[in-house]
Amino acid sequence: MQPAMHPMAKGKVNKRAKRRSHFGKLLVLFAILAVAIVFLVIAIYRHRSNQNFAKDKPIAIVDAGHGAFTSLGIIDVGASHFGLKEADLVLDIAFRTQKKLEGLGWIAITTRDGDWTPFSLADRATFANALQADVFLSLHLNSHTSRSAHGLIVFYWRPEDKPLAELLQKRLSEKLGLRDRGTETAPFTVLVWSPLPAVLVELGFLSNRREAKRLANPQFRDKAASVLAEALNEWILKKRAKERER
Ligand SMILES: [Zn+2]
Repeated sequence: MQPAMHPMAKGKVNKRAKRRSHFGKLLVLFAILAVAIVFLVIAIYRHRSNQNFAKDKPIAIVDAGHGAFTSLGIIDVGASHFGLKEADLVLDIAFRTQKKLEGLGWIAITTRDGDWTPFSLADRATFANALQADVFLSLHLNSHTSRSAHGLIVFYWRPEDKPLAELLQKRLSEKLGLRDRGTETAPFTVLVWSPLPAVLVELGFLSNRREAKRLANPQFRDKAASVLAEALNEWILKKRAKERER
C-alpha cells in the first residue's frame, strides 16, 4: 500500500510521472526511428551492390532450339533420328551450358525449361533484347537426307557476329573433335530478330549414326556445354577488354 500524499505533492509527482512517460515515449520513438534508418541504409546499400553485381555479370540467353507450338498445334521437336529427338538433346545441353556459364560468373537464362515454351522464335530474340543480354546462343542439331553428312556449323546473321561465330566454330571443332564445316550466314528468325550478338550452333548431325551416338552420351553433351561456356567467356573477356581500351 502506498503512503498517502499531500494534494500539492501529488500534482508534482503526477507532472514528474507525465514528464517521465513523455520521455519514455520519445525514447521509443527515437529507437524506432534509429532502427528504421539502419534498415533503410542496409536496403539502399544492398540495392546498390546488387545493381553493380548484376551490371558486371555478363548475361547469356541460352536457347534450346524447338519446343514451340507449330501452326498445327503440335510441339515442334526438330530432327528425330535413331529414337533421339533434337529438342530433348538441345534442352539438356542448354541446361548444362547454363550451369557452366553460371560457374564462370555469368547470368544465364534458358528460353524453355521443359518440352515446350509459349515463346515463338521471334519472342525469344525479343526476350533477350528486353533483358539487355550480352549474347543469344541458339542450340540445334543438324539433319540431312544423306546419313554420311556430319560435322559442326555455327550460323550468324549480323556481320559483326562473325568473330564470335568463328571462335565458337574453332573451339567446338577442336575440343569436341567434330568436323569443321565452317561458319555460315543464314536468315534464321532468332538471328534476324536479334539486335544483340547472336549465333546458332548446329552441334553435329543427328542423322549421322556416329554423331547421334555421341550426342546420346551425357558425357559428350557435358563436354560440349563446357566448351560453349568457355568460348563465350573467352569472347566476352576480349570484348570487355577492348571496350576498356576505348
Ligand atoms: Zn533445329
